[in-house]
Amino acid sequence: MPKIHALSPRLANQIAAGEVVERPASVIKELIENSLDAGADRIDIDVESGGVKRMKVRDNGCGIGENDLPLALARHATSKIETLDDLEGVETLGFRGEALASISSVARLTVTTNDSENGAGWKAASAGRDMTVEITPSAHPQGTTIEVKDLFFNTPARRKFLRTEKTEFSHLDEVVKRQALARFDIGFQLTHNGRVIHSLRRAKSLPEQERRVAAICSPQFMENAVHISTEGAGMKLNGWVALPTFSRSQADLQYFFVNGRVIRDRLVVHAIKQAYRDVLYGGRHSAFVLYLEVDPKVVDVNVHPTKHEVRFRDGRTVHNFLFSSLHRALAEVRPEQHLQAAE
Ligand code: ADP
Ligand code: MG
Repeated sequence: MPKIHALSPRLANQIAAGEVVERPASVIKELIENSLDAGADRIDIDVESGGVKRMKVRDNGCGIGENDLPLALARHATSKIETLDDLEGVETLGFRGEALASISSVARLTVTTNDSENGAGWKAASAGRDMTVEITPSAHPQGTTIEVKDLFFNTPARRKFLRTEKTEFSHLDEVVKRQALARFDIGFQLTHNGRVIHSLRRAKSLPEQERRVAAICSPQFMENAVHISTEGAGMKLNGWVALPTFSRSQADLQYFFVNGRVIRDRLVVHAIKQAYRDVLYGGRHSAFVLYLEVDPKVVDVNVHPTKHEVRFRDGRTVHNFLFSSLHRALAEVRPEQHLQAAE
């Protein structure tokens, strides 16, 4: 038998990174979530070559204190939960304390941050070493900028799985779109190779929000969508559903958020499909941007590290509520629109 030995922290992080960091898009997702958890209301994302070469996320959140900076980059270190009880009602997007440690183990990562309005800021870099972090003074307004360069530079096996710049960028763009749909209260900008792709101002009023949805999902979607706002069984549902006349050949315009978190859930998909069943051609897909709000205690988000899955305590009630709300909304649409769909 070979001798048992402990993995070096770096290797342990690289293994963990296999779960969290699949491609540039997953890095951007983690960085945006951190900015949101930090209370930022403005997030600028600037990437090069689909994100493979360089990704930079800058926010105006709370920043990281100088003493916390080494911990921010350490594995299983988080400011977001302390006890199992906290985990039960977790409302932040992150809580595992894995992302920055994982990312910095497979890329060159630099954090520049400032946690006070009048302080000057500091910088920490971590790459190629065994997670030791060096901190130097560096000017930054309150908030944080995280730069990630040369993703998978030290893990060639992982690098091989990266697709073309265009494909990687489209995954990354999708992540930004989801976040921009999830958080109307945040200003987002996405720049790729020096070109501004999205520039989205904070959207407070319903018309402003509809403008943002149109910018992200196409003006045609918005022109063909009905607005929903309803509550029942302790839940709230709002958003936009496309009329059956605006069906898609692919399920590429379907956004569903639970308490601000985008999710993909079989029960949800099934409830929506059922609601459209009589008005949509077979093989066609509906389009929607929907927001479900439930008590965080009745939904378990601690299912998978990428956190696209949730588990509802009472799935049947959620299913019934979604189905009946959508069914009603679609039934209220003028009958000739149904006729058009059936032609
Ligand atoms: P998690 O988000 O699960 O706590 P991360 O590895 O993503 O773990 O981040 C570790 C810690 O670093 C966070 O708990 C937070 O305290 C700090 N942090 C990371 N990004 C930011 C940011 N943009 N602004 C402020 N603090 C941050
Ligand atoms: Mg995080």
